[in-house]
Amino acid sequence: MPVTLYLAIPCYNEEEVLPETARRLAGKFAMLLAAGTITAGSRICFIDDGSKDSTWAIIDRLHRENPLFSGIKLSRNRGHQNALLCGLMTLRSRADCVISMDADLQDDIDAIDAMLEKFQGGIDVVYGVRAQRETDTAFKRVTAQGFYRVMKALGAEVVFNHADYRLMSRRALDALAEYPEVNLFLRGMVPLVGYPSDVVYYNRAPRFAGESKYPLKKMLAFAWEGITSLSVKPIKLITWLGLTMFLVSMGMLIWFLIRHFTGNTVVGWSSLAVSIWAIGGLQLLAIGIVGQYIGKIYLEAKHRPRYQVEVFLDTPAESGEK
Ligand code: UDP
Ligand code: MG
Repeated sequence: MPVTLYLAIPCYNEEEVLPETARRLAGKFAMLLAAGTITAGSRICFIDDGSKDSTWAIIDRLHRENPLFSGIKLSRNRGHQNALLCGLMTLRSRADCVISMDADLQDDIDAIDAMLEKFQGGIDVVYGVRAQRETDTAFKRVTAQGFYRVMKALGAEVVFNHADYRLMSRRALDALAEYPEVNLFLRGMVPLVGYPSDVVYYNRAPRFAGESKYPLKKMLAFAWEGITSLSVKPIKLITWLGLTMFLVSMGMLIWFLIRHFTGNTVVGWSSLAVSIWAIGGLQLLAIGIVGQYIGKIYLEAKHRPRYQVEVFLDTPAESGEK
């Protein structure tokens, strides 16, 4: 049975890669259609995340030239995760399953076949996992893999070396829609949904044009977002740290009292000064981390929309072509 597949591809200033990406994906879809794997109502949807270049003009043209292409325009830049969620939520009612991927095709599109095969075998969530990432810079590789380790240590369930290249069934997407949080970290939220899941391995290629939209600063912010959205361990760790510090200072007090009564009084202002600084620093750190969580509660309490769709171009299968 052919399935109706939608691709959700967030794009931010991707004019350099879009035409080539569209060409390659159209070729892939033609093959899948010929093989009877997908229906004629399957679509490739680009989500323009408030780009400042001609990205939307290109998407608009692709849609007019070929109903295979759909487009969603966000009213402004909301970041990769929000754009992706917008795509998933907008498309879920039209598709049997949606595959999310990046516009730069760093993730091998030939893994789509294996994903669809697993989906047809009854799997709801298929994670694309990078088997090797030699093409990434050593720095990107080390930081990214360190990140997955830290996440794991903090108790957040993330699939190792899986970015946002994944297939989700309509049922899984409907479940994801029940998560109303605005602090989005999709690759940590999807495992929470449950349902049968599996992985597909592929090799990661270099970006074929344009440059990464994730500089170090954004990457660090993203990692922090992931940790604080999924884990309250930092707060717990601080509590233990505070307790340990308190016990140590009690020990010190006893030690100094013994010194005092045995007549070995120390001048000791240096140890005082050091401990004032240590405790002061720790307190500020602790307040800072707690503050980060309060900031998140503040954002969640506001319930602001996570994205705003300005235009949605799509040719529904029934009214459509062929
Ligand atoms: N992206 C987006 N909004 C942003 C930043 C990035 O939609 O604010 C998209 C971007 O167009 C790409 C994907 O997110 O399709 C991943 O970005 P990129 O390839 O630059 O990240 P990297 O692969 O270097 O981690
Ligand atoms: Mg990329």
